[in-house]
Amino acid sequence: MQEYILTLDQGTTSSRAIIFNQNGQIVDMAQYEFKQFYPKPGWVEHNPKEIWSSQASVAAEAITKAGINGRNIAAIGITNQRETTIVWDKETGQPIYNAIVWQDRRTAAFCNALKSQGHAKMIQDKTGLVIDAYFSASKIKWILDNVDGAREKANQGKLCFGTVDSWLMAKFTNLQTHATDVSNASRTMLYNIHTGQWDDDLLALFDIPRSMLPEVKSSSEIYSRTATTLFASKIPIAGVAGDQQAALFGQMCTEPGMLKTTYGTGCFMMMNTGETPAKSTNNLLTTIAWKIGDKVTYALEGSIFMGGAVIQWLRDELELIQHARDSEKLALSVEDNGGVYLVPAMAGLGAPHWDQSARGCLIGLTRGSSKAHICRAALESIVYQVSDIVKAKMADTKIQITEMRVDGGAVANNFLMQCQADIMNANVIRPKVLETTALGAAYLAGLAVGYWSDVNELKKLWSQERLFTPDMSKEQREHYIKYWQKAVERAKGWSE
Ligand code: ADP
Repeated sequence: MQEYILTLDQGTTSSRAIIFNQNGQIVDMAQYEFKQFYPKPGWVEHNPKEIWSSQASVAAEAITKAGINGRNIAAIGITNQRETTIVWDKETGQPIYNAIVWQDRRTAAFCNALKSQGHAKMIQDKTGLVIDAYFSASKIKWILDNVDGAREKANQGKLCFGTVDSWLMAKFTNLQTHATDVSNASRTMLYNIHTGQWDDDLLALFDIPRSMLPEVKSSSEIYSRTATTLFASKIPIAGVAGDQQAALFGQMCTEPGMLKTTYGTGCFMMMNTGETPAKSTNNLLTTIAWKIGDKVTYALEGSIFMGGAVIQWLRDELELIQHARDSEKLALSVEDNGGVYLVPAMAGLGAPHWDQSARGCLIGLTRGSSKAHICRAALESIVYQVSDIVKAKMADTKIQITEMRVDGGAVANNFLMQCQADIMNANVIRPKVLETTALGAAYLAGLAVGYWSDVNELKKLWSQERLFTPDMSKEQREHYIKYWQKAVERAKGWSE
């Protein structure tokens, strides 16, 4: 009777619901793009009620499209935009402010002050994170400090904080649950990833009462059962993980040293480091990948801002191409980059360079440089940036990376993938199912209810669509990397 797993994939721009069968294949899905609010420069908000209602409606739509009903769903998995912060009234379930989205920079000055007061090391030691406005802690503090009466209610134990997973669970269970999973907890900057506890020193530093916080559970267990009219059939909510962690699981990167990169607007690299957290000396983030049973698995994370966004820039600002996919043909119309390098530091440079004042730079132009060379340089820039982070990960973990699994919209570009294998000197593997984020959450949920028996069974479901193997001489590779590094140096320190 119960044949499917439903994933609620709550992303930054849309809410999606995907139904998977026992082979890990997509049966049906529905998606709804919701409204973004930009109340001031640098501020980004979502309406929590719209997050909830859009998620509920796409779930109903996907189930209806598949011609099934709630009784056919063995379990629900949730994966979500991480760090985004919601505070609601414990009794009524009403949010007291909009969701403050991970991208929101309103607390940047406060975070800089924490840095200059010397808290960076303590925070990194406990949470694995680099002080930044991305993470939930400073956003919760902002809500308590700025919403009328919030601080008082929080002190009386009348408010709940949650990341989006907690919020959805609370709503789907009629406020019977206030919980989160370890992977989401590890992005709040309040959770000690070594002890597995909310941390009193951090709660004091951010002035947040412990009573607001959700109970932290593993990523694969029955949290609660749905209790709303929509899901009257009391479906177990049984798997929860933040989006990047879920993708790592969906890619079945379950052994230490296994790595996945998601090529979307930005690129997100996550590497399984096993049962020990790897400390980064390159400003990468140490985080919890998942907890299954009693076993916590850690990961090292690095991201770049301008991934597929470079190709959007070619399309929308330079108008060199009409569609993102045209970039492959144009790049392949020339033999090589013709000595042209693009450093897409439009928003500064992140890990491992870390220079906020860097700006984009196009260099190596000659009279023979064409738009095809620029397009090729743009695609190559994604490759070099990813390779720089992979190198930093190898340095932090002393693990030699020999292969990387990939997903996200830009992996359709075969030139990009081959170039990645060549420059990284490692295999690049593109799987058949590219919806790895939703799949990872489905797997976590299915494991908890016995829909799948164990990770070994899941490993058999993962299959590769195409393998890209390195096909470039050492001299050539070193030549390209040397010039990329020279170009990066030219881009640094530009804006004052
Ligand atoms: P997100 O989830 O961040 O919205 P997606 O995973 O949907 O991103 O990927 C979209 C991104 O991938 C866009 O930035 C787009 O420019 C880029 N992209 C899509 N197709 C290609 C392609 N064939 N070649 C290069 N880039 C591409």
